[in-house]
Amino acid sequence: MIEEFKPADYRIGIGTDIHRVVEGRKLMLGGVYIPYPAGLLGHSDGDVVLHAVVDALLGAAGMGDVGALFPDTDIQWKDADSKTFLYIVKEQLDNKQWEVVNVDLTIHAEAPKLGPLKGQIRRCIAGLLGMDFQAVNVKAKTNEGLGEIGAGEAMAATAIALLRKKPRRTL
Ligand code: MG
Repeated sequence: MIEEFKPADYRIGIGTDIHRVVEGRKLMLGGVYIPYPAGLLGHSDGDVVLHAVVDALLGAAGMGDVGALFPDTDIQWKDADSKTFLYIVKEQLDNKQWEVVNVDLTIHAEAPKLGPLKGQIRRCIAGLLGMDFQAVNVKAKTNEGLGEIGAGEAMAATAIALLRKKPRRTL
């Protein structure tokens, strides 16, 4: 059996998202609950990291964006666990014979300190995508006190994902 890949079988996508920090919400980042006195405002659970990852995957596959698939006007997604979004998108990628090669992402947040939590977030996303955790990289940085993120009023995320068509089997 020979596995054949052509350059056109690879696609790359980018996703970005930003959410407002508010009191009275659980902080969910990358599918992981983060103990913190505030959370992110959103129709769903506000998981800015998973939203960026979903957009990167959808972008790579040419399948639109998170807002089109899971509109904030749909009561079905009110307070939804964003892990569901990633799970559904992964299923759609499988159906279209796409496999995820790797995901890289950066979380932009002034607080809390995310260093100790990056491994957990990495494992959660890798688990949801059925990938080796080494194929998912998580970086975190502050905004050096600048702008809304620097003031702790918002958190943002940027993600990039590479897909490839599942190999065709030839004799
Ligand atoms: Mg969002």
